[in-house]
Amino acid sequence: MVQHYSRSLRFRFLAALGGVLLIALMSLVVLSRWVIFPALHKEERAVVTQELKKIERALQISQQNLLAQARDWAIWDDTYEFVQGNYPGYTDTNFSQQMFEEMGYQLMAFFNAEGGVHFLAGINPATGRYHTCYSTERECRWMAGLVRTMQASIKEDPEQGKSELYAGSPPLIVASNPIFRTDESGPLQGWLFQVRPMDNAWLALIEDYTGLETTLSVVNSSDSNDIAITISGNTIFAQRYLSTYPLNEQLALETQLNRTSYLASLETFRYVLLWTACLMLLVIVLVLLLLERIILKPLKILTRFTQQASDDLEGAHSLLRRGDEIGILARAFQKQFKRQQQLNAELIELSTHDPLTGLPNRRLFDQRLQEVVNIALASGQPLTVMMIDIDHFKLFNDHYGHPEGDVCLQRVAQAMHNVASAHGFFIARTGGEEFSAMLPATSATQAVEKSQALSHAIDQLQHPHQVSPVASYVTVSIGISQLDIEGAMTPSGLMTTADQALYAAKAAGRHCVKVYTPSLANAVFSSHNTPP
Ligand code: GH3
Ligand code: MG
Ligand code: MG
Repeated sequence: MVQHYSRSLRFRFLAALGGVLLIALMSLVVLSRWVIFPALHKEERAVVTQELKKIERALQISQQNLLAQARDWAIWDDTYEFVQGNYPGYTDTNFSQQMFEEMGYQLMAFFNAEGGVHFLAGINPATGRYHTCYSTERECRWMAGLVRTMQASIKEDPEQGKSELYAGSPPLIVASNPIFRTDESGPLQGWLFQVRPMDNAWLALIEDYTGLETTLSVVNSSDSNDIAITISGNTIFAQRYLSTYPLNEQLALETQLNRTSYLASLETFRYVLLWTACLMLLVIVLVLLLLERIILKPLKILTRFTQQASDDLEGAHSLLRRGDEIGILARAFQKQFKRQQQLNAELIELSTHDPLTGLPNRRLFDQRLQEVVNIALASGQPLTVMMIDIDHFKLFNDHYGHPEGDVCLQRVAQAMHNVASAHGFFIARTGGEEFSAMLPATSATQAVEKSQALSHAIDQLQHPHQVSPVASYVTVSIGISQLDIEGAMTPSGLMTTADQALYAAKAAGRHCVKVYTPSLANAVFSSHNTPP
């Protein structure tokens, strides 16, 4: 039973469904590991990149704004006059600390057509004090580095208005424009630079505008212009490196986002994953239970039903009433089984009975004889057999014809069957016109009476036999032998001795009964003539 378990349907279903569950779970894991988690992660990166681009856009707007202002100043005729040295009141009218503070300027620098300093005004970031100068000396010395960078920038590209970022503490937006007349008549007269610090106030404005926390720091030159994204715990950082002028340093613009929504989606997805797995497990358990109930259990009953082929089997009735394939199978099996039983019975009847007379045949007689001999030997009870043979039956056939012979055989058989039934012994047709009877618990002497009853019953038939030398009707001769007598210890020995007794009866003139005795072999017979 155990060794066949791996081949049982239940095991196969379990294995198949287990396999399906495993594949499904593995698919879920693979799907989440290589598709869903990366997709969520990508989306998070896209969101933070988008946010960083917002800040960049705000910075660009601030740069464009400063450039527009620088351009306004630079192509103003008053400025043109001023750099030509023709407008002495220009500085007093236009520049003041208040104007710088309101406009968010740190410095305005005017250069003449040769690139030399013409005028400088600015608020020193270290002291917060406002100064105007005509060179980078004394209180305007803090501007010297910036002014040199601006002069280098003029040399590089004198014709263009531009806006650039300068590294520093704080970093700066620097916008510049060549000085022309408003109508662009006359030669280029110099350059104007405007500087806006990207200090905390500027960052606060950007944060107001974008709604994002922003930091700006100077870093050593990095090759990458890409957005760098780093994750630390519940926070994701995005950083963009911005080029400065000159190119030896870079600015890192950084923002950070809370990952709550990403982590929440992740949590939700994990939850869904877990529930999906549980649901699959539940479905498989249910399928197995249903299989057990709908298929396996009825199949088990069907198997037992086919093995025992009994309607009394528990569940057999409900099995036979089922409308499904199992029910059809069970009914077909039952029908087939009944048919087989019937055929078996017919076959047994055919193989153990004589078709002409309906009496048991030699096969059955021999079989029974073996059994009763065993019983008699074991119990010590007597057992007697008879051999009955129709007298001159060849002559009968020759005279009346074979079909009439058959009819005669049937009548004789029927008569003997009636006597055997009445006296409770077994009789069989063991040859053509030869019959044998066995009489358990009967001695030879008792058997003689019964043999005479047989002979008498046949005489009573008065079946005509005109050519018989014995009588005008059909008669029989009978030989009797009892078990245990010397030479009659086995079934075949017993029958041989009975045959010898029959031979003696024939020899004694027929229509008589002879009992075998050991001396019979020496042709000494004890004779019992049948009553007339
Ligand atoms: P005896 O008195 O010595 O027994 O003489 P008998 O003629 O009866 O014996 P024998 O053995 O010479 O002949 C038996 C005959 O029985 C021969 C055979 O034609 C006939 N016979 C055997 N079986 C059948 C049968 O089934 N039907 C018919 N009609 N005759 C049969
Ligand atoms: Mg014979
Ligand atoms: Mg005969």
